[in-house]
Amino acid sequence: MSKTALTQWRHKAGAWVQRGLDQRLRLAVTGLSRSGKTAFITSLVNQLEHAGLDARLPHWPPAAEGRLLGIKRVPSRHHHVPAFGYEAALGQLAGTPPAWPEPTRGISEITLAIKYRPKNRLKRRLNDNATLYLEIVDYPGEWLLDLPLLAMSYAQWSGQQRELLREPALRELAGPWLQMGEGLAPDGPAEDARIAPLAAAYTRWLHDCKRELGRYLVQPGRFVLPGEYQGAPMLQFVPWVWGEVGTGLGEQHHHGMMEARFEHYKKHLVAGFYREFFAGFDRQIVLVDCLTPLNRGPGSFTDLGRALDAILQSFEYGKSGWWRRLFAPRIDKLLFAATKADHLTPDQHCRLTRLLGTLVRGGHRQARLSGIDIHTLALASIKATHSGRVRHQGEEIPALQGRRLEDLAPVTLYPGEVPEALPGDDFWQRRGFDFTEFAPPEWRPEAPLPHLRLDQALAFLLGDKLS
Ligand code: GDP
Repeated sequence: MSKTALTQWRHKAGAWVQRGLDQRLRLAVTGLSRSGKTAFITSLVNQLEHAGLDARLPHWPPAAEGRLLGIKRVPSRHHHVPAFGYEAALGQLAGTPPAWPEPTRGISEITLAIKYRPKNRLKRRLNDNATLYLEIVDYPGEWLLDLPLLAMSYAQWSGQQRELLREPALRELAGPWLQMGEGLAPDGPAEDARIAPLAAAYTRWLHDCKRELGRYLVQPGRFVLPGEYQGAPMLQFVPWVWGEVGTGLGEQHHHGMMEARFEHYKKHLVAGFYREFFAGFDRQIVLVDCLTPLNRGPGSFTDLGRALDAILQSFEYGKSGWWRRLFAPRIDKLLFAATKADHLTPDQHCRLTRLLGTLVRGGHRQARLSGIDIHTLALASIKATHSGRVRHQGEEIPALQGRRLEDLAPVTLYPGEVPEALPGDDFWQRRGFDFTEFAPPEWRPEAPLPHLRLDQALAFLLGDKLS
């Protein structure tokens, strides 16, 4: 072989080995509205950009061992998915005064190329560096609440909603759409002029259930977070709760039109999401804000538990998941993270982790999730408080310092204790916990964002991929 041919061959072999070492990982980030997805992704990308330099990531081995060679943002492969607004989020955090970034409203994506020195001897012999392309996908947890709809007919769903409306608080708020629908004959000619305002009133009810009653389990999930489908006819139907109606009325009638739209919603939005996106996720983090419902009361907290139950169904594809055959999911690591841990003094963080563990690992569920590596953690994506100790009535107690969100006033407080298991009556009577919202910290853009335990999240989610 001539010298040039040999060099060319070496070049080709090098590129081939490199391709073998490079990997892609699709990491999905979800959680219900305001659980902290935008803050989490912004801080995660920011920590990675500062990793190996000035970021504090002692529990993430590649950073602690000095094996990171460079991390940069690269264009995403999926041209139809909107880009995650990282720069805009940093701009808001760096503002005067700093503001929390705009929350997630739909799906978005950001890709990072993480160049590292492998630890694994075999990989190192092949080449002294490798790249992990990390694709981070952000999507609303509300979309996962819809999975159970796939197994339901329009009549079954309507019956379930009729049952739900027996609850006085929900029924009272539902007044406007219930009245509007009363005059609608199931076999009357389908008119958009009547269906569209009814669906809009129904959607307002779902929003009211969230805002006024602190409810989480609202279905259909896309009604509250429609993404790019805002105003589409397939988001214009309501459950038929005004007495039972047999099927068979064609789309030219009110009832038949609603039924057809319900089926369309299931096929295109629910199944479509699982097929197009969910099936391609390798790892998943589910963010949970346990603190807001603890502040709001037992109704809200119980509903969070129900919503998490519905969300978990998406991961119960271990052996017998009924929908496994449809989408062939491949998620092998699932992290549940209790967010906003900086609202608690450090002595409470373990209790918060245990509380989340109780919510997501209750009894029989553990077996159904087998086959997936699961972990729970309490973290703060962007730490907005400092913890310390203060003297109170002659005693030293733990306390937090930060600025209140509403008026930016500096405060020092002890928020109280979180329960480590599902809270009972005594907890709700004592009301031993009071959660104050904090303004984001003062932050210089050239520094990494302050956080709690994002390195532990990275170690669990990416640990094996950067070995
Ligand atoms: P999303 O709807 O899931 O995208 O939620 P966001 O990331 O927008 O978070 C909602 C709100 O929760 C923010 O506006 C902040 O007020 C608060 N938040 C989120 N993460 C943190 C955190 O790490 N610390 C604190 N103190 N507040 C947070």
